[in-house]
Amino acid sequence: MLRIGGITPFSTVDWPGKLACVAFLAGCPWRCPYCQNHRLWQASAGTQDESSLFALLEQRRGLLDGVVFSGGEPLAQDGVIDAARRVCELGFAVGLHTCGAYPERLRELMPYLAWVGLDVKAPWDGYDNITRVHGTADLVQESLDMVLDLGIELEVRTTWHPDLLTPDDISTIGLDLANRGVRTWAIQAYRSIGTTGELADKTVYPFDVPSQLPQLFEQFEFRRA
Ligand code: SF4
Repeated sequence: MLRIGGITPFSTVDWPGKLACVAFLAGCPWRCPYCQNHRLWQASAGTQDESSLFALLEQRRGLLDGVVFSGGEPLAQDGVIDAARRVCELGFAVGLHTCGAYPERLRELMPYLAWVGLDVKAPWDGYDNITRVHGTADLVQESLDMVLDLGIELEVRTTWHPDLLTPDDISTIGLDLANRGVRTWAIQAYRSIGTTGELADKTVYPFDVPSQLPQLFEQFEFRRA
């Protein structure tokens, strides 16, 4: 059974270029200080099961391109595999927002996935400072390399708060991503809306992005998170 904390019936922003329904799955093992979905950290925040999602999809056949599983961290629930299979059987494409914490479960989900939005939060040697959990960088690298190896459409996203990442950190991340073959990268400027408020209310601007980075990617976007 899935534990779903909320469903957005129509979204044009959660899967770029697609009209998608978004299911926000409850539960996340990490504790990023800028998290805008901290109300979904606990699995108990999932007050709906998958029946509400599939009832919606039955009504939306032909009206939606796909379903995005988001969170929280959707791969924290093993039920996401069967749910994705059912979504595909109904004729919808499946997208995924993930932090990369569960590479083995991501591997199981791969046959059903058309698109992945993967967070890369920091240079690898500083990763645990953001997630506040030990050993997270290896998991994300394994997830990232798996998606790249299988050629699934990928957007990497990096949330930037100026107290957490310097411009040099952003350069380190961008160069690493380009060297691995990532073609689409979005920097999401920190916004305090929906967070726990533990970070200073500061942000960054497009002119803070080191100038050599955007040209390393086929698609680069600076976004308000
Ligand atoms: S991994 Fe995502 S959902 Fe989990 S704490 Fe970090 S930002 Fe929030």
